[in-house]
Amino acid sequence: MPTRPCWVEIKTQALEDNFRFLKRLAEPHAEVLAILKANAYGHSLAICAPAVVRAGARWLGVNSVEEGVAARTVCPASAEPDPRFDLHVDSHVGGHLGPNILVIGGVFAGQGEEVIRHGLTPVIWEPWQLDELEAAARAAGIPAGSLPVHLEIDTGMSRQGASPTEVAPILARITPGSPFRLEGIMTHLFAADEADGRVNAEQLARLDETLNRIEFAGQFAEWLNVGNSAALLSGESRTIAELAARHGMKAMLRPGLALYGLVPRFDPDFEAAEPAGLAAAREALKPVLEWKSQVVSVRCVEAGAVVGYNGTFVATESMRLALVAVGYADGLVRALGNSFSLLARGARAPLVGRVSMDQAVIDVTEIAGVEAGDEVVILGAQGEERITAFDHADATDTIPWEVFTRIGARVERRAV
Ligand SMILES: *Cc1c(COP(=O)(O)O)cnc(C)c1O
Repeated sequence: MPTRPCWVEIKTQALEDNFRFLKRLAEPHAEVLAILKANAYGHSLAICAPAVVRAGARWLGVNSVEEGVAARTVCPASAEPDPRFDLHVDSHVGGHLGPNILVIGGVFAGQGEEVIRHGLTPVIWEPWQLDELEAAARAAGIPAGSLPVHLEIDTGMSRQGASPTEVAPILARITPGSPFRLEGIMTHLFAADEADGRVNAEQLARLDETLNRIEFAGQFAEWLNVGNSAALLSGESRTIAELAARHGMKAMLRPGLALYGLVPRFDPDFEAAEPAGLAAAREALKPVLEWKSQVVSVRCVEAGAVVGYNGTFVATESMRLALVAVGYADGLVRALGNSFSLLARGARAPLVGRVSMDQAVIDVTEIAGVEAGDEVVILGAQGEERITAFDHADATDTIPWEVFTRIGARVERRAV
């Protein structure tokens, strides 16, 4: 059934190009894992996961087991071995030869069975997560060493991960007789956009120390899994790769935002110096998402007319107003009423009055010819004008990540 006209367009070619650019930027130092959590930052996992795989992604990162199952469903195992993929995934139960799917938020009670059935790769750091997985592995009768896991180390963010001094009891569970294979060591750089690199250096020093402990315990992991878009674009992949190489490991970076075409903001001084990677990224990365709606109806009002709930806008002269099929239930923040513009006929049309749940009103007095059915751009380009996710973020005191992920589930995502 055709939907109400409030939709998101996903430029899959831009996504594929962005992935290839990031891959080239990481090479030859590091592998690139495509972050697709939270429905691919609101861009649609079902559209984006196959697109990045077409562009050559061998690793996908999702938050949860349920997102991992959804990713596996849209990127199924290939019938024939695909030479692009590491054959080690063959050791997975089920022989998945599709992309590796890393579940970065870990496994929850009762989810172990799905991890095994769909050949997902869980991040682990708590003994109870290993209990869950071990019980599921025994129930499924999978061979010893056939369930890859990535051990997360908390190198300073105090969010998830085992502390460097507490890895021993976790490692003791990953023995040759266990179902597990320690495939990766992971950590998250929490200030990679602070370009002096001081926090990064401290975190990497803690990681280095932890890798020594892991070696001392006689364990080995193939991948060192570190770093987001900011780390990749600011050139940290070389440092991370050097650390990996010192421990006989391979480096992997995990960009999210950059994949969707946005360059994260760094310190002003760093941006002013515009290091080579950043300049190239600004040139190459293209926004993937545009958010659009339509004019439902146009009306003329006289001076003194009030607009919207509580009459927070009063017309000071006769005006032409257009009703648009988008509201806060779609993710257009209510506080933007009277303080932001959308695009109509290539021009900025101010939001007047409060944004309602399902509708908003724009002032088109100065824009000739606006009529019902006209396309309205909420986020994206129209003519010479453009509204970016940073514009939405700045106007609502947040970051582009939240702007993307708050676009409502009911807003249809279309691949274009
Ligand atoms: C979301 C996330 C990323 C990607 O971060 P971006 O800043 O969007 O590149 C990488 N690693 C982890 C663990 C994450 O949660």
